[in-house]
Amino acid sequence: MARLALPEPTADRTSRDARHDARAYWSEALWFELCAYCLLSSDALELDHHEPRQFAPDRAGDPLNLRLACRNCNGRKGDYHPAHATRRRKAGVATPRPVPDIARDDFGQWFELLEDGSLGARGGAFREHAVFALVLFPWCLDPFVRRRAELLDKLRLCERALLHEPLDAHGQALLETILRDLARQCLLLIALDVSISDALWNRLRGCAATLSRQRPGS
Ligand SMILES: [Zn+2]
Repeated sequence: MARLALPEPTADRTSRDARHDARAYWSEALWFELCAYCLLSSDALELDHHEPRQFAPDRAGDPLNLRLACRNCNGRKGDYHPAHATRRRKAGVATPRPVPDIARDDFGQWFELLEDGSLGARGGAFREHAVFALVLFPWCLDPFVRRRAELLDKLRLCERALLHEPLDAHGQALLETILRDLARQCLLLIALDVSISDALWNRLRGCAATLSRQRPGS
């Protein structure tokens, strides 16, 4: 993964308040509170037991086994075991394909973000995994495609604007607004290795740092 490097959880995180610990860790690791599966949604995030409770009851309170997940993705993942994708509730349903894990897998090796916002399975070693994930999760549905297309539009707009700096005051204010918006949502672009100029990358990091300091509890 080119630019997304997950920090090591700090040693003092305990299961005393696992849910708080997990939310704080993933919020920090993924820049903002975003779904660890679709990498897009920030609404109605739930805590997903990555290794389902049915398989690992002893890890139910382990913050390292919790992921932030939107309702859509959490519902689709259900009680699939992430490593071998078998289920407990439906014992007959089994596949050797793993569920993608932001903590372990390079999403950029699995998926390709196309110009129109759709997500395709890359060729190569992870193709079957990616095809399975695209069947399991709702990421080919219109709302997800639209959101990714909007992100790409913002990316192109910012790249063009940065080429024309210094802008007039109105243009600069508009650019800052779009940059802040993009910084909150650009996990998907980073995780999928979408090409971003160094100039834009540096601005996004700056925005993310500022927004992070402004977040409640920071
Ligand atoms: Zn999601």
